[in-house]
Amino acid sequence: MANINANLLRVPKSYLFRDIGNRVSAFMETHPDADIIKLGIGDAVQPIGRCIASAGAMRCADMASAEGFAGYPNEWGMMPLREAISRRVYGRAIPADNIFVSTGAKEDSGGIQDLFSLDTKVLVPNPVYPVYVNTNLMYGRTDIGYLEGNAINGFLPEIPTDIEDSCIIYLCFPNNPTGQVADRGYLKAWVDFADRTGSVIIFDAAYSAFIQSSGIPRSIFDVDGAQRVAIEIGSFSKSHSFTGIRVGWTAIGKEVELSGLKHAYKVRDLWANRQAYRTNGVSHILQAMALEALSDEGMEASRIQVAGTIHNALLMGDTLRELGLNPVGGIDAPYVWCPTPDGMSGWDFFDLLLSQCSVVCTPGEGFGTAGANHFRLSAFAHTDKVAEALERIKRLRL
Ligand code: PLP
Repeated sequence: MANINANLLRVPKSYLFRDIGNRVSAFMETHPDADIIKLGIGDAVQPIGRCIASAGAMRCADMASAEGFAGYPNEWGMMPLREAISRRVYGRAIPADNIFVSTGAKEDSGGIQDLFSLDTKVLVPNPVYPVYVNTNLMYGRTDIGYLEGNAINGFLPEIPTDIEDSCIIYLCFPNNPTGQVADRGYLKAWVDFADRTGSVIIFDAAYSAFIQSSGIPRSIFDVDGAQRVAIEIGSFSKSHSFTGIRVGWTAIGKEVELSGLKHAYKVRDLWANRQAYRTNGVSHILQAMALEALSDEGMEASRIQVAGTIHNALLMGDTLRELGLNPVGGIDAPYVWCPTPDGMSGWDFFDLLLSQCSVVCTPGEGFGTAGANHFRLSAFAHTDKVAEALERIKRLRL
């Protein structure tokens, strides 16, 4: 028998949303008539824009013609798509050559660790999107520092003053799970920290399309100095309902380098080489859809979807406040994050909502120790279902 990579045993046996799914299935077995409303996982529910579907159908049909057929896609992504991301998302601040198309932000936020030595310290916020922590554990990294977010710091963890070593820093704004956003000053302080310590920021911008408030940066590259220290991970999943289609990207600051034994290496070149060995790229059909997603019509479809989701999030926040709770987020993000009533555990509150209201939320404990006694509501749902779920929660008289 071959030996296991023992690091695989260091992560929880089951992914959070699989646990939740199992609890919901068990409830449905005993309550087959329950009308369950799912406000748990952040999965898209709105159909993709028609122009995007047509672009995919056309590219697929083209594959049946001698002129349109294409074999392996380029492992970095097709240039027109990389150029469109450069233009539409970064106003060309990040050149197309520094943008690498992928099958999503989850894959790249884990895979990016191929770049760093195993003894590099990792800093993550707490609460945190669990993928950042568990993929690092699988790689065998042991030095993980948790930066606590709480009601006092507005879930914007303080920038450490006692760390001198270079680190990998995970930041995610708008944040999952807290729905909070960061202003330019806060992000600049992280960029300065990274500059001072020789660290690299992995900035997960999967939810950037949800930012409504003016003055909030949609990209870390809107912040001075980020080109030296940041890698941004983007996605079409939440902005364009691509969760089931799977296209994202990684954008690398022009000057980000890592030090080797003899010299420094450009991260852009390291990642290009890593991709060449790890992937044969993303399907031509999906890339055609992503390209169309960035057209004016595709962006308009996204704007309408995002507006619907934000409308839901605002309804959620208002209702929870009416109930005397103190939610955060849900203004520039599709998540509302809230302390449970009477300090209940997040899992107890999850069970209460499921058993009394047939509503599924996500217990805060799933996002780390600082998530204890909190729950998250996802606004990725149809508005009539959200309204119905909130009515049921109101009747609970929390
Ligand atoms: N990053 C964050 C913070 C997320 O919350 C999610 C999904 O919920 C992802 C990445 C996954 O994105 P993708 O669908 O592009 O893999």
